[in-house]
Amino acid sequence: APTAPRPVAPRVLALANQKGGVGKTTTAINLGTALAAIGESVLVVDLDPQGNASTGLGIDRRSRRVSTYDVLTGEVSLREAILETAVPRLHIAASTMDLSGLELELASQRDRAYRLRDAIRRLNLRDDSFQVRNNVEYSYVLIDCPPSLNLITVNAMAAANAILVPLQCEFFALEGLSQLLKTVEQVRSTLNPELSIHGIVLTMYDARNNLSAQVVEDVRQFMGEKVYETIIPRNVRVSEAPSYGKPVLLYDLKCVGSQAYLRLASEIIQRERALRAPAA
Ligand code: ADP
Ligand code: MG
Repeated sequence: APTAPRPVAPRVLALANQKGGVGKTTTAINLGTALAAIGESVLVVDLDPQGNASTGLGIDRRSRRVSTYDVLTGEVSLREAILETAVPRLHIAASTMDLSGLELELASQRDRAYRLRDAIRRLNLRDDSFQVRNNVEYSYVLIDCPPSLNLITVNAMAAANAILVPLQCEFFALEGLSQLLKTVEQVRSTLNPELSIHGIVLTMYDARNNLSAQVVEDVRQFMGEKVYETIIPRNVRVSEAPSYGKPVLLYDLKCVGSQAYLRLASEIIQRERALRAPAA
C-alpha cells in the first residue's frame, strides 16, 4: 500500500505586543486571510479573552462552545476547537472570556507554559479514529496574543517558531519594544531556544502625517532588516470590516488595506522560503 506522506509541521507565528490597539488582531485576521487567498492553509488561534479575532472572522459567541480555554486547560484537543470561517482554507480556534482566568488555574501545573506548544504538536498527527470535518494540515498557525506579557503570551512564545510584532505608527511606537524583546530573549533562553523575531510590521501609517514617516525612519534605524518592507496604511475599510464579521479582503478587496495585507503575505512567504533554503 502507498505510504501516506509524513505530515509537515506548520510554521507557527505569534502576533505579540503587550500594547493594546497596535494591530495584532487586525493583522492576524487579514494576514491569515491573505495567506489563505494565495493558497496556504491557515489556522488562527485566538488567545485574547476579548475574542476580537473570533468576532472579526464572523464567529458568534454561541458557536464558541469549545474554545482555546478548553484547549489550554487540556479538556479538548486543538483539533476539536477548530471552526471554519467564510474564507476557504482559513480556520480559527475561537476564544472566550474564560481565558482571563487561565493564569490562576494553571499556576501549579509544571507544564503550564507548554500547553499550546503541545496542543499544536498533536495537531498534525494523523488521528484516524477522530472524525473531523476538516482534517486539514495547516501550513501556518497565527496566534493572536492578548495585550500583555502574561502566561497566555508566554504559551504563544513557547509554541511559536517566530514572533511577528505589529507596531503602530505613532509617537510612542518604540516604547515597550525593548521590554517585548527582553521577554522574547527570556523565552528563548528557557522555554524555546528556536524562537526568533520574524519581523516588525508597521501599522496604521498615515501619509498625511509627518509623524508617521518619522516613526518609520526611527523603527527602521532601530530594528533594521527586521522591519518588513510592507507598511499597513491607516484605512477606514480595515476598521469597518470587523463589524461585518469579515476580513477586509472579503469586505473590500480593492482597498489599500487589503492590498497591503496581500503584499505582507507574499513578503512573509518570501522570507520563509529564504529561511528554508539551504545555506549557500
Ligand atoms: P490589537 O489587537 O493590537 O489590540 P487591533 O487589531 O484590535 O489591535 O486594532 C486596534 C484598532 O485599530 C481596531 O479598532 C482596528 O479596527 C483599528 N485598526 C487596526 N489596523 C487599522 C488600519 N490599518 N486602519 C484603520 N484602522 C485600523
Ligand atoms: Mg487584539
